[in-house]
Amino acid sequence: MDVVRHQPNQGWIEVIVGSMFSGKTEELIRRLRRAQIARQKVQIFKPTVDTRSDDDDIVSHSEMRIPSRAVASSRLLLDLVEGDTEVVGIDEGQFFDQDLPSVCNAVADRGKRVIVAGLDQDYLGKPFEPMPQLLAIAEYITKTLAICMVCGNPANRTQRLVPGGDRVLVGAQGLYEARCRVCFDPAPAVAPAPASRTPESRLPNPRSPKV
Ligand code: ZN
Repeated sequence: MDVVRHQPNQGWIEVIVGSMFSGKTEELIRRLRRAQIARQKVQIFKPTVDTRSDDDDIVSHSEMRIPSRAVASSRLLLDLVEGDTEVVGIDEGQFFDQDLPSVCNAVADRGKRVIVAGLDQDYLGKPFEPMPQLLAIAEYITKTLAICMVCGNPANRTQRLVPGGDRVLVGAQGLYEARCRVCFDPAPAVAPAPASRTPESRLPNPRSPKV
């Protein structure tokens, strides 16, 4: 989806959500690049918790990258948005605090286009705050789908392959895969070699989803 600016000083919120490996960050980078090509001033932020990528870049799994600024809180982000910025991009929205929706509203009210990408569900398939609140207030929503690693159907769940109670496990190559609703199993399994997969290898989740 490409949104064109119909009138000056008209802000809005776009949200891009989906599972891991669904291309959320690629879609975010694509939209931001198009704005840059149109010579719009773009600022890009990510949460400091995302240690997957370089300090100054947003990097997709396919190695698309765009310079960004890591911020510790959404309030700090609000302070850093400059007056002449036209487009604000935010990656890994699910790792921000619960103020992110109101901060995005405030930025959009200043006449800026706000684009937020993030996971809509955690590894248990539960809504991943604050993304549900952002989805409720956004003008435009894009849900990206991955392909199920088990059956090949469209996938909107993120399957964790290793046990562990932390909701946030960043960096994820080998720890997660995309699954459809049929193949998704919220009890994380040890990931043995296929030949050694046994019922004993499936472990219960040791902790509750909210940490
Ligand atoms: Zn499947």
